[in-house]
Amino acid sequence: MASMTICARFRPLSSKERRDHGDAVCIQHVDFETFSFKDEKDEEFTFSFDKVFYEKSEQAQVYEFLASPIVRDAVDAINGTIVTYGQTGAGKTYSMEGPSILVRDEQKRGLLPRVVEGLFDCIKSSGRTMKHSIKLSMVEIYMERVRDLFDLAKDNIQIKESKSQGILLNGVTEISVSSPAEALESLSNGIANRAVGETRILCFLFPSKAGKLILVDLAGSEKVEKTGAEGKVLEEAKTINKSLSALGNVINALTCGSSGKANHIPFRDSKLTRILQDSLGGNSRTALLCCCSPSPSNALESLSTLRFGMRAKHIKMSPRLKGNEDKSAKKNGPPSPTKDESCERIL
Ligand code: ADP
Ligand code: MG
Repeated sequence: MASMTICARFRPLSSKERRDHGDAVCIQHVDFETFSFKDEKDEEFTFSFDKVFYEKSEQAQVYEFLASPIVRDAVDAINGTIVTYGQTGAGKTYSMEGPSILVRDEQKRGLLPRVVEGLFDCIKSSGRTMKHSIKLSMVEIYMERVRDLFDLAKDNIQIKESKSQGILLNGVTEISVSSPAEALESLSNGIANRAVGETRILCFLFPSKAGKLILVDLAGSEKVEKTGAEGKVLEEAKTINKSLSALGNVINALTCGSSGKANHIPFRDSKLTRILQDSLGGNSRTALLCCCSPSPSNALESLSTLRFGMRAKHIKMSPRLKGNEDKSAKKNGPPSPTKDESCERIL
């Protein structure tokens, strides 16, 4: 049984961080799996992840390690999920998209355009037809509503669960694409529609008759008090915090489930955790990229991001072929959903 792939990524120091603290960093590189971290009280911690990407790591290396195995499996009907987590400014969107998903610079291109190309390459080499082979959907969760970024009139998409297909977004726009260029053009239109307030973006890629691939660029994980937000922005921040803490609670429940007693997993506490139910609950190959600033000025938030990643490391996954209910995987896997959760219904 596989677990989640958990990686940490430290972006280069920003010019503001350099101005305020010079070249000071709170991490010391041990190797590409381990580093030591000093908090603001000079206390030292050692962290180990499946892979650590430091400031000189390239976008292509992140793709190769974290995403390309998931892309290959998705074409072979195994669901995949890639999530970026971290405080605002930590490099989530840069890792996911690059400066823009249309940028041609090989050094800067992010995961999303590489995933799109990787999917088409895999489909081509498997000898399948390219025409309408991938469907795209793109939504964001804004103030606990799921908004369709391909059709803004659909601003409250309902989440549905089907026994055969798992979690579905009821009535979400699906755009069929038959080339990477076509996919990137649609995706960039969707990205242009996202809300200005920092929210999380979800992209779904569905190679036909195969797995579902979900890319999630989460909202900033920082504490609300630190943002100095007021009014509408404060309300937004609180809702974002609520769904990120729901994510933390789901991860805690999944990792504490080894005591033997049936454990309730609170997937229903937020839209985010509901949509990620398949990704976290077992039927997916899932990778988490914990994005951090290397600066001592952000040590507290980085530490909280790294601890989130360490907790997620203990989740056991049991990805299975779509439509192929593997009973043994289920028996050994994380607690199965309750009867109420597994029947087909609309939230
Ligand atoms: P987030 O999405 O987590 O809020 P961004 O991805 O927007 O953060 O990154 C914040 C800033 O840092 C951006 O200007 C981005 O270009 C830069 N940045 C982030 N990661 C890297 C990196 N690995 N290399 C170079 N610049 C980066
Ligand atoms: Mg961002």
